[in-house]
Amino acid sequence: MERWIAYYKDHYRLKKNRLIKIDQEKGRCEQCKQPANKVKHIDSSRDNHDLSNLKLLCNECFGEALRSIKKVSKYRKLYGFTLDEMVKRWGKSSGYYFYEHRKGTLKDILRKKKNYINNT
Ligand SMILES: [Zn+2]
Repeated sequence: MERWIAYYKDHYRLKKNRLIKIDQEKGRCEQCKQPANKVKHIDSSRDNHDLSNLKLLCNECFGEALRSIKKVSKYRKLYGFTLDEMVKRWGKSSGYYFYEHRKGTLKDILRKKKNYINNT
């Protein structure tokens, strides 16, 4: 029994579309082509179960995707932006923002930026 599935709304539709997706992709991970049986919501929502919003993944890629979602929400929670969004907005590299985050100075740096609004 997959426990995570219980968190989703309209879970019958998700289950049905997961099977369709497995059939469409011939049971292969859309990222690495290994045998796959898990679906991820591309937009990270928990309620858009459209086929176009589902990606079939193997265990490994699914785990990787979950880890990156966690990472994303950590920065968004702290600063209102993900590392990628900071790079898009203000240039430099994600390594730069990560390093400043580790030093504890990122918040001060961001506060001085133009257009910085922390909505969180
Ligand atoms: Zn994979």
